[in-house]
Amino acid sequence: MLRKSSFLLALLLSSACASPPAPTAQDVAVVSGVAAAQPEPFAEDVIEEEIVHPALTACLYEVSEASRGEVIAGLQAWATILKPWREIEVVPDATDCNLTVFEVGPHSGLCASDDAAGCTRQIGGLGEDDPSVEVFLYRGNYESYATGATMHEVGHLLGLTHKDGGLMQASWPDDFQSADWTTPDSETLDRLETIVGVALR
Ligand SMILES: [Zn+2]
Repeated sequence: MLRKSSFLLALLLSSACASPPAPTAQDVAVVSGVAAAQPEPFAEDVIEEEIVHPALTACLYEVSEASRGEVIAGLQAWATILKPWREIEVVPDATDCNLTVFEVGPHSGLCASDDAAGCTRQIGGLGEDDPSVEVFLYRGNYESYATGATMHEVGHLLGLTHKDGGLMQASWPDDFQSADWTTPDSETLDRLETIVGVALR
């Protein structure tokens, strides 16, 4: 969850933010094994094979026309950053997609607080083979920093929890909201590389 201002820190725990990170690192695990039938001289050869995941599709659902460009920019930024780990195709109008960004009303009850800019249902999940995960953006709350809010919430779906000082800070003061978030801060990328097990830079 991402909140608009810092005085709401007491409300930090939500369904999305309280769960432990899902173990996504194994999704890019290297499979190692010794071929049992190999003759003696080759018995110690280790076969390493990288698991290649199918590409993911990301789309938008009922996102207001005025914010679509910025939400797409947030998804596209992650797609670029995550390329060494996993291919993500941003198809705004796709109907069958792995990651859907919904714009919903702030009184929908989907996020823990009506003051939230957005939230997710879970931490992690995007690393699964065929994920089906959502980002909810609260109409009226997220628009002034739609790209950053989208990136923050997708960060949760990548397994990132809250941490002050960067993209995953729980509450964003004005200077955070106006920053260019198309490139996450290096600490966030450090944490993400640990989670996915792949160098992203
Ligand atoms: Zn959050």
